[in-house]
Amino acid sequence: MAKHKIALIPGDGIGKEVLPEGVRVLEAAARRFNFQLEFTDFDWSCDRLLQTGKMMPDDGMEQLKAFESIFLGAVGWPGVPDHVSLWGLLIPIRRDFDEYVNLRPVRLFEGVPSPLANRKPGEIDFWVVRENTEGEYSQIGGRMFQGTDMEFAIQEAIFTRKGVDRVLKFAFEFASKTKKKHVTSATKSNGIIHTMPFWDERFAEMKKNYPDIKADQYHIDILTAHFVRNPDWFDVVVGSNLFGDILSDLGPALTGSIGVAPSGNINPERKFPSMFEPVHGSAPDIAGKWIANPIGQIWSGAMMVRHLGYPEAAEAIERAIAASLVEGGPRTRDLGGNGDTKTVGAAIAELVKTV
Ligand code: ATP
Ligand code: MG
Repeated sequence: MAKHKIALIPGDGIGKEVLPEGVRVLEAAARRFNFQLEFTDFDWSCDRLLQTGKMMPDDGMEQLKAFESIFLGAVGWPGVPDHVSLWGLLIPIRRDFDEYVNLRPVRLFEGVPSPLANRKPGEIDFWVVRENTEGEYSQIGGRMFQGTDMEFAIQEAIFTRKGVDRVLKFAFEFASKTKKKHVTSATKSNGIIHTMPFWDERFAEMKKNYPDIKADQYHIDILTAHFVRNPDWFDVVVGSNLFGDILSDLGPALTGSIGVAPSGNINPERKFPSMFEPVHGSAPDIAGKWIANPIGQIWSGAMMVRHLGYPEAAEAIERAIAASLVEGGPRTRDLGGNGDTKTVGAAIAELVKTV
């Protein structure tokens, strides 16, 4: 039986409450689909920072290299500046492990209210693929003549052929594997006249390799409008670091609670571990009350097993999430129920055995 080593980083706040529920559901799925997950716990967090001065030990990244995937809760705590918690843990993992794809599903489940009126489950079901390592979020640039009338700021965006091609390839491959028929690219070539036409060219080139997949492109401004007005048009949407960032927040916002949304930071070649985590943060306002919705974490677990090569297990977890929401099972406060974190996790773990 294949065995996969997974690093668990619960992190801070509700991360510590929802991560065990993710693990509980993964264990149930692994039993049913005949694979083994070997979990190792790491207490890397803001708590650790306050006690020891470091989010993780000096050889932390070296330690993580021994794992196939990282399953993370949430990192960040009031009193610890975001740049300290982010740069002490999350950013090194994303960058040093070359997790160049950020992947987020956008799916409306029955029983979850959407801010879009008259949208039925099934009508909103697509994925956003964001380039995660280059593009607009560069360190290159600066300010000149500060404090004078001539003051200006320059920020360079870097798009490499390698960087663009590999994320576009991921989008098309992901569409093929998940039996999606349509890939949409987001750019803004009428305003940004060097980098965006380059992306469009690479997209046109890449789509030739996938004749069965419909490929089209929109400018980011009208695309955001279509997300709201015509979310049923999309299957896989791919964008640069900035545009992908915007779309991957807008998408899940169309489908209800932040507590439900998952994400993956993926190194598709599997040269380094990939990291799977819910979209939400440590939610200090509800931490310690055990009312956090564990579905974002559980769904992130589904994405992780899909990446490990078990699409059936991933689909079973997704079906279990859907079934828990439909059948009037326990639900947490953010979805209008009064179930606690563990009750919801246990219900989904039970459903995964059979659904
Ligand atoms: P980040 O750490 O990414 O900056 P944030 O501080 O902006 O995150 P969150 O920690 O995600 O935001 O919390 C935003 C709001 O959503 C809070 O009111 C929080 O209680 C709520 N929330 C977040 N996650 C959950 C969850 N899993 N279940 C229920 N409510 C949640
Ligand atoms: Mg926060």
